[in-house]
Amino acid sequence: MPAEKALALVVRGTDWSETSRITTLFTREFGKVRGLAKGGRRLKSSFEVAFDLLTVCRVVFLRKASGGLDLLTEAQLAEQFPALRRDLHALNAGYYVAELLADGTQDYDPHPDLFDAALGALRGLGEKAGDPSPGNQKTPPPNPLPRGERGDQRGGRSSSPPPWREGPGEGSSRASRGRVLAAVSAFELVWLKELGYSPRLDECTGCGAAPVGDRVFVSPAAGGVVCPACGPAALDRRPLSAAGLNALRGLVAGADPGSLPAAAGAELRPLLGLWVSTVLGRRPRLLGYVDGPGR
Ligand SMILES: [Zn+2]
Repeated sequence: MPAEKALALVVRGTDWSETSRITTLFTREFGKVRGLAKGGRRLKSSFEVAFDLLTVCRVVFLRKASGGLDLLTEAQLAEQFPALRRDLHALNAGYYVAELLADGTQDYDPHPDLFDAALGALRGLGEKAGDPSPGNQKTPPPNPLPRGERGDQRGGRSSSPPPWREGPGEGSSRASRGRVLAAVSAFELVWLKELGYSPRLDECTGCGAAPVGDRVFVSPAAGGVVCPACGPAALDRRPLSAAGLNALRGLVAGADPGSLPAAAGAELRPLLGLWVSTVLGRRPRLLGYVDGPGR
């Protein structure tokens, strides 16, 4: 069994015995890897990390030739995203990213760009809007408060309460929610692209006609825009405003999700949720926690 090294994001974990864990890793080098971590549940084990969800670690594993579980032999902490723990919506979005990586990709099918997009999304999810400082680091700064709030003693101890809280109806909460949803949308589009389902938006997927007017129809099953003539054949078609189409094109092209207009971002959410569900073959379990019930 050759020993392999990889940078890995923990996307799923199951306790296997009183001392061991089965963990699903999405690695930059090999794609999805499922391994047994003997002793991974012990406080004092050979592993530096406990394989908690959304932990990034450098792992060494022995690859099983027969297709069984690989055997994890070493793990060192590389990055965590502590800011996600301060925002339940952002944390659920992080779990949603993990679900798409765990269930949407095949074992040993590497997608380094998808790995990078996932880490970028996780770093961005925990940041407060307008905070230029990195929100997630291996060693958090002693005072993680955003610029402008420094000097406030609340952030001085690790046991102190979160520097900000969200409540329903607060403007900051709406801004934070919009930022999280934009980051999720951008990640979903990378996920779709890497799986070979990037939306085709410049011409009708049926006849090749260019989309015109202030409203178009798009169909995840058809793979993109459908014109009025071809539309009736696409039963899952959804209307999309010209602004929504422009926003979608921008995100597909890699635009900063932070620049996504709020209205267009909100319009894209049910469409992208449907798109991901169509490709995955079912509605992702965490999608409702990201978009809210009934979306
Ligand atoms: Zn057409």
